Parts: sequence; structure tokens; C-alpha cells
Amino acid sequence: MPETIIDLVFPASCVVCGKRPKPICPGCRPASEIGRIGGFDFEVFYAHSHQGAVEKLITGYKDQQLTSLERTLAESLAELFRDIDFTDVAALVLPARSAKNYRKRGFDPARSLAKRALRLAGITLPVVNLMAVRSRKDQRGLGRDERARNVLGSMQLPRHIVGKVALFDDVLTTGATFTELARACEEAGVEVAFGCVLAQRFTQS
Ligand SMILES: [Zn+2]
Repeated sequence: MPETIIDLVFPASCVVCGKRPKPICPGCRPASEIGRIGGFDFEVFYAHSHQGAVEKLITGYKDQQLTSLERTLAESLAELFRDIDFTDVAALVLPARSAKNYRKRGFDPARSLAKRALRLAGITLPVVNLMAVRSRKDQRGLGRDERARNVLGSMQLPRHIVGKVALFDDVLTTGATFTELARACEEAGVEVAFGCVLAQRFTQS
């Protein structure tokens, strides 16, 4: 959706504090919180914790289709990408797109963000979405075990990739999707170098 249409539909104020200027005022731009999460067989880097301004930005972007917020989020993600060594990475692998969410949103937030952030960081890398091999429910609203069952065995690498890959998702919650990304890569004989996410609200069981 063009930003001009968004501007007609939504109020011209910051999505975080409600003051001008839109879509986010300088004072509400999230500060970098780059860190690592343990608990996976590979390193996982994150740009932010999923809370406060970041949570509002992500909700506005993904659920209210405020595409004008993408730039702020992509700039944050580009900061993380610049921090990571992508030298040995042949592709950035993303979850299979949810058909239902894609119909609803008209775009794939994780893919769109990843591509824009790579461009901003000056990294040339193919972005590969896994292929859905069966349908799955929206992970939101599901508990930890349900999430794991819902997503297990649901994705496949669409083509062979020579070399290692990096995994990417916009939000990491229980890690079920990340675990499935890693499983699908392993099944295809492709090694995972590391994972990265825009925002994490990870809680280990
Ligand atoms: Zn603000």
C-alpha cells in the first residue's frame, strides 16, 4: 500500500507516543539493543527485545499495515546485519509465508524487512522463503507445545543451496518456527551458520 494512502487512513501522529511527527517521532525511535539468545544449536542474534516502542512499531507494521513504519524497523535490522559476519553465508532463509496472513496483509513482513535491511546494510544475499508442505495455524494464541506441534514438519527448502545459510524471522517467541527452519535446512543437507531476528520475546521452557 502506498504511504500516501496510509496517510489518509491513519492519523498523522507518532505510533508510539501519539505526538507529531508521524509515523514515529525522533524521541520514540528505539535504541539498539543487539544481543544473543542461547538455547539453539547455533547462535541467534537479535536487534531488539519485543517490548515498548519496538512492540508498537511491529504491531503497527504487521497488523495495521502501516507500511511507512518499515523504514524505521529496517534501519534497526540493518544495524544488526552490519554487526554480523555474513562472509560464509549463501542465503538468508525465512519461514514459509502463511497464505492466510498474506491474503490479509497483502505483503510478507519478514521478507520485506529482511530485503530492505540487507539493502541498507550493503549486503547482497538471496532471500529464500521455505515452502509450506502442509497448512498450519497462526502461531499467535497457541501455547508452547501447540506451537511446536503446529509448525513441526510444515516447511521445506524450495531448492538446493550450496553452502551455509542464515535463518531470519521478524519475531522470535518460543523458537518453534526457528527450530523448524533449522530442521528443514538439515533435512536438505544445508548447514545453518546462525539465526537472526528483529525482535525477541524468547522465554525458555
Ligand atoms: Zn513519539
